[in-house]
Amino acid sequence: MYQQLLKSKGLKSTPQRIKVLTMIANAGHVDINQLSDDLKQSGIKIPLATLYRILGELSSVGILHTVALSREKTKYEIAKGEHTHFLCEQCGQLEDLQVTMSEIVHIAQNACLHSIHAVSVMLHGVCQSCGVNPTYK
Ligand SMILES: [Zn+2]
Ligand SMILES: [Zn+2]
Repeated sequence: MYQQLLKSKGLKSTPQRIKVLTMIANAGHVDINQLSDDLKQSGIKIPLATLYRILGELSSVGILHTVALSREKTKYEIAKGEHTHFLCEQCGQLEDLQVTMSEIVHIAQNACLHSIHAVSVMLHGVCQSCGVNPTYK
């Protein structure tokens, strides 16, 4: 299925790109180090620099979506419908929340901003399983 997607975005469908997309789809949200580990575990070695390049290409054509967790840390996900994120401060788990951002955009537009290109909302807190089993580090 990713062959078609890559082609429709003008990218050649290579085994590396397909594998990377499959891994990210399985993981939901993944950062580059975790992705590199996952690939290694399945017997695929892609140098980090190459992986950065692949992720950059896939993001620039809109197949991947980046979620900035902090200045240094970014997670990648397969681009899908508008949604917002919840980040657990204890385990670092990132969850999708199906909330549309149209109201935020509407308010921002009424505030006379020139143009809005993207909306990203991040909710911070403690997830269900950390709330039930608190881990004190
Ligand atoms: Zn948690
Ligand atoms: Zn997401």
